[in-house]
This record gives sequence, C-alpha cells and structure tokens, in this order.
Amino acid sequence: MNHQFSLNEEQQAILDAADQFGRDVLYPLAEKMDNEEWWPEEAFKKMAEFGMLGTTVDPKYGGAGLDYLSSGLIAQAFGRWNHAMALSWVAHDNLCVDNLYRNGSEYLKTKYLPNLCNGEHIGCLGITEPGAGSDALGSMRTSAVKDGDHYILNGSKLYITNGPVADVALVYAKTDLNAGNKGITAFLVDKTMPGWGTAQKLIKMGFRGSQTAELVFENCRVPKENIVGDEGRGHIVVMSGLDFERAMIAPISVGMSERALEISLEFSKVREQFGKSISSFQMIQSKLADMYVWTETSKTFVHKVLAEASQAEKGQGGRGHIHIQAAAAVMYAANMCNKVLDEMVQIHGGNGYIWESESNRLYRGNKLLEIGAGTTEVRKLIISAGLLR
Ligand SMILES: Cc1cc2nc3c(=O)[nH]c(=O)nc-3n(C[C@H](O)[C@H](O)[C@H](O)COP(=O)(O)OP(=O)(O)OC[C@H]3O[C@@H](n4cnc5c(N)ncnc54)[C@H](O)[C@@H]3O)c2cc1C
Repeated sequence: MNHQFSLNEEQQAILDAADQFGRDVLYPLAEKMDNEEWWPEEAFKKMAEFGMLGTTVDPKYGGAGLDYLSSGLIAQAFGRWNHAMALSWVAHDNLCVDNLYRNGSEYLKTKYLPNLCNGEHIGCLGITEPGAGSDALGSMRTSAVKDGDHYILNGSKLYITNGPVADVALVYAKTDLNAGNKGITAFLVDKTMPGWGTAQKLIKMGFRGSQTAELVFENCRVPKENIVGDEGRGHIVVMSGLDFERAMIAPISVGMSERALEISLEFSKVREQFGKSISSFQMIQSKLADMYVWTETSKTFVHKVLAEASQAEKGQGGRGHIHIQAAAAVMYAANMCNKVLDEMVQIHGGNGYIWESESNRLYRGNKLLEIGAGTTEVRKLIISAGLLR
C-alpha cells in the first residue's frame, strides 16, 4: 500500500494548474451563479480545452488518463474558487463519466465518452427518487420493462445534479421489482430518447448555479445496448461507484476549507477594532489555528484515501477497507469544513452574514456535503458496520 504524505511533482503541477484555472476562469463566474442560479454554458468546454474533463478516462476515448488522486486534486482546486462548479464537475466527471468508463461496454464507451470528454455533452447520475433517499436501492421504484430490443423506463429521479443541463444520464432502474436491494440495472439514457423529461429545476440554499432537477422518465425507450454492466447487477455498479464518488466529493470540502481559511486570514489582518487589527486578539488567533488544523487533517486524510482509491482493483469498491475509508474521508472532510466555515463567519462578523459576501456563499454551501452521496448518518452506518464485521 502506498502511504503518501506529500504530493509528487506531477501531482503538485496538476493541483497548481487546476488552481490557476479555478482562479482565472471559475472564480469570476461564482457570484452570478450564486445570485441567479445561473449556468455558464461555456465553462465545461473551457475545462475540456485545459484537459480537465474525462480526467480518469483513457486518452483513446478523449480523456486525460489520470488516477483518482490527481482527479481529486482538480476537485479540491475547483472547490476553492467555485464550489458549485466543482460539484457539477464531479457529478459529470466522476458520477457519470468515470462510472461509464469503468463499467460500460466498448460500444457505449466509444459512442458516448468522446463527447463527454470534449465538453459537448454533460452527464449526470440518477439514483435518488422522491421515496428513495438513504434507502436508495431498497425503496427504488423506477422500473425498466423489457420490450424486444428495448427497455421501457418509468419513474422519477430527484435532486439530480446537472439534471437541467445534462445530455446523458446514468440511471438505475429495477428490472425486477420483487428482488429487494437487487434486481437493479444501470442504463445510459440519452436526452434524445423519447420519454426523457425534466420535471422541475430546484432552487437551493447553497451550491447555487450548480443545476439540480427532478428527472422524469415516461415510457422512455432505451435500447438494450445501453445497459451499463450486466442486467440485474446494477447494485454492484452503484456500490462500487459510491466509494469513488465519496472519495472524489471529499476534496471539495477541503478546497472550501482552504479558501475559508485564506479569506479569514486576509480579513482578520485588515479589519480593525479597538485600534488594532482583529488578528492581534488571541481569541481570533485561536480560531485561525483551529481552522488550519481542521483543514490540514482533512486534506491529509482525503489525499490518502484518494491514493488508495487510485490503487483499488477493478470491482474492489463497495466493500472492505476502501468502503470504510471513503465513507470516513467524506464524512470527516464535510464535518471539519462545517466547523471551519462557522469560525470563518464568526471572524467576519456582520460582513459574513451578508448574502453577497464570499464568506456567506461558502457558509451556505457546506451543509450539502453532509447530505449528498450518503448522509453523515449513513456514512457512520457504513463505518461501524465495517468495524464490527
Ligand atoms: C443539492 C443536491 C444534489 C444531489 N445530487 C444528486 C445526484 O446527482 N444524483 C443522485 O442520485 N442523488 C443526488 N442527491 C441526493 C442525495 O444523495 C440524497 O439527498 C441523500 O442520499 C439523502 O437522501 P434524502 O434526501 O432522501 O434523505 P432521507 O434518506 O430521507 O434522510 C432524512 C434523514 O434521515 C436520516 N436517516 C435515513 N436513514 C437512516 C438510518 N437508517 N439511520 C439513521 N438515520 C437515517 C438521514 O441521515 C437524514 O438525516 C442530491 C441531493 C442534493 C440536496
């Protein structure tokens, strides 16, 4: 096992390049995205130009061929400068594209990956339903019924990141409604297939501008070639994917924590009260020291788990060590980020409570990272079940 405590030259160069891209291209978009739930159409194409789409996909399909750690460093850098875009990027690049790359047939990979890697198409992942959140598999009601060479999908998927702007969706549906957690099949559904609909765009308290919707499938005809993995074995695709998804979402919290610390340091040095900068007060210094330690510990843990995910064998996700570690990393990074963001607003005083301040935008964001990709409670269930096994 690789115990990696610092980035090598190549990884540092990837982080620096993504940081520069985040600062120059994504940061200027963040305020308008937050104010208006606005989606900047060109952003994904610009990411593709800089080699930041399809990051984990083999270059023969148009990807960058990076491992999870290098890909996670991009999520961390994007999280610093525009966390809403970082979320949309992860939903596309990992939840949809990486999953398709790992589990799809040669036909699907050749047909769909090039456009998903060059920014022409945007991808999303549909697991959650109105009645199926934490119990996503057991309570799933979206059905897929075989009809000759097609499957007919019916059902809806709620809170889907990129839903309003997506061209393709990796959708899980039950091909056997009586098989409990099993009997699930993964399909790659493309917007041109009749029966794909966007029910509503959802307005959020944070991560605004990252587009979220309820997707509805009404007698949606999906060719049998668009099954991802094997029929009835979608639970394996979901469970293995969720570990990499959690490992890849965690660095967004790290990036947000880093930015929160940075702006808190800047603000505390220039804001004066009682004739001195507030950074001279020991109670403010104590907060800054705590924020630093919380950020550094979560960064170290998240990088370690990303390095382990990078070395995981195909099909290894969804069980054992990586299952516990990915849940632990995303839980810890999100919990620590919430603590960092709370102290950040306290340091900013009234300024941190005003909607358009950057500190407020960050503060409204992090709660999602304790909910999406499995809640803190679900993460604890996974960790404790693994420890007690
Ligand atoms: C902005 C946003 C983007 C999202 N993006 C996507 C996406 O792209 N694709 C997708 O498929 N889904 C997405 N989700 C859905 C997300 O994964 C779910 O919201 C999450 O899994 C929780 O499900 P739920 O909201 O139905 O909560 P519920 O499952 O109803 O949970 C409510 C509360 O009960 C607790 N709880 C539930 N079961 C237990 C238990 N056994 N023990 C203890 N406590 C429990 C939960 O922890 C939580 O506190 C997104 C959600 C949001 C808000």
